[in-house]
Amino acid sequence: MNDMYDLVVIGSGPAGRSAAELASFIGHSALIVERGLPGGTVTTVGGAPTKTLREAALDLTRTHADQRMSLAGQLQTLRTRTLSVCRSLQSATADEIAARGIAYLNGTARFTSCHSLRVDLADGSVRELTARAVIVATGSRPRRLPNIAYRDPAIHDSEEIFRIQELPRNITIAGGGPVGVEFATVFATLGVPVTLVDPGDRLLPSMDRELVGVMQTELERAGTRVLLGAGIEQAERAGDRLEIQLSNGERLTSSALLLAAGRAPNIEGLGLDVAGVGMDGRGRILVDRYHQTSCPGVYAVGDVVGPTLASLAMQQGRAAVCHAFGLAFGIPIDHSPSAAVYGVPELASVGATEEQLQAASTPYVVGRCDLAKTARGAIAGQAGRLKLLVRADDRRLLGVHCVGEIASELVGMAQAVLHLAGQVDVFLTLALNTPTYTAAYRDAAIDALAQLAALAGRPRALHLQLDGVRS
Ligand SMILES: Cc1cc2nc3c(=O)[nH]c(=O)nc-3n(C[C@H](O)[C@H](O)[C@H](O)COP(=O)(O)OP(=O)(O)OC[C@H]3O[C@@H](n4cnc5c(N)ncnc54)[C@H](O)[C@@H]3O)c2cc1C
Repeated sequence: MNDMYDLVVIGSGPAGRSAAELASFIGHSALIVERGLPGGTVTTVGGAPTKTLREAALDLTRTHADQRMSLAGQLQTLRTRTLSVCRSLQSATADEIAARGIAYLNGTARFTSCHSLRVDLADGSVRELTARAVIVATGSRPRRLPNIAYRDPAIHDSEEIFRIQELPRNITIAGGGPVGVEFATVFATLGVPVTLVDPGDRLLPSMDRELVGVMQTELERAGTRVLLGAGIEQAERAGDRLEIQLSNGERLTSSALLLAAGRAPNIEGLGLDVAGVGMDGRGRILVDRYHQTSCPGVYAVGDVVGPTLASLAMQQGRAAVCHAFGLAFGIPIDHSPSAAVYGVPELASVGATEEQLQAASTPYVVGRCDLAKTARGAIAGQAGRLKLLVRADDRRLLGVHCVGEIASELVGMAQAVLHLAGQVDVFLTLALNTPTYTAAYRDAAIDALAQLAALAGRPRALHLQLDGVRS
């Protein structure tokens, strides 16, 4: 049986799903092939389960602080809640796909030619498909390190860790990126001593250095040992423990090891060579600015092109569909996506970092507000910091970074201002409700404007250029 579609998408993660949804919305027949569960990494081993674990761990420690729930009980509670959230998101994804008139096959797809695919269905049958356009949105999986015995039941990658049967006495986590830091937070919150190891000179290299420092201090205060400049060279079993050899010569003894050392693209078995789809030396599919591969009409989006964020993966999916069906992509892919690390506290950012501005010799000032000094922070007893990076010559907002309880939400407003190339002054024209953390934008803006006034050697009131505003 050979089915024809305008669009066949391989993978139902954010990239593939958003592509199929747009194609269907503009009147094209679309089919998604998914070998796993609806929603991809987000609803199985990524954003949803990790953030649920964090919330559940925080809840557990708040609710049961004086009741000392057993470790087994804690793990069961976390497992139940995580599974329930994932199942509900998977079912919502499946419903949404069906409601939008998109066909869906549970099976594994591979190319038989540039525009033809074979799907081995979960029920054992086979379907042959032909499509005007094919989008590869097969995502990524944890990268595996050499010299590591992954068969050892105490050694986990970021997918297997969800299946642990008991909480370890202590854990070493390799990788100081968002995944490593988020798991470190979860284990530390549950009272498991954590050693977080990274070969770089800092955690979270893409985030604001100053605020990463604040987060690291909080991680250490919560009992996490942070070891920088040290990669994992080897891990061997020694009785009921693991002996871990680090690149700096240090040896660690640990009950468990979690490797969160980056992601590798899912390309195996796709038959990309048959379709003539080119890849780089690291196995990532090569695409042009429209996300088209070296095979015309075949596109690749999301993590299979390089690790990204769910939000960007969705935009890439839509961009590919626009090109495939001759539509102008009216809203270009956002080059200032907001990103967050869900530790305790959260860390979030949008736009340029100080390092980037310095590298580009862009003149800027930093407006800061300590969240503890805002009414909301004082009421909630929460600390944190909001930083606005403002261009010195035209007062445009260039970047916003925040560490604090709801940092991931707080940077949203700044993203809109950045997107519209707005000036920092906008935060003084808005009557920001109080008590809210959002009101911190006003204080940080005043701080930035005061510095700009000082730089320009002008009275602050004149520099504000706003009727009725007094600094
Ligand atoms: C632990 C963790 C936490 C994360 N947290 C966040 C976060 O907080 N915010 C954020 O923005 N991003 C987060 N990410 C990143 C985010 O999950 C990815 O960027 C996003 O899922 C990429 O989407 P995708 O559609 O490209 O791929 P995926 O979501 O990985 O989906 C790919 C799908 O393709 C299917 N597939 C693969 N091969 C085939 C085949 N041959 N046939 C059929 N189906 C196939 C897979 O089963 C999978 O379901 C996190 C990632 C991880 C690992």
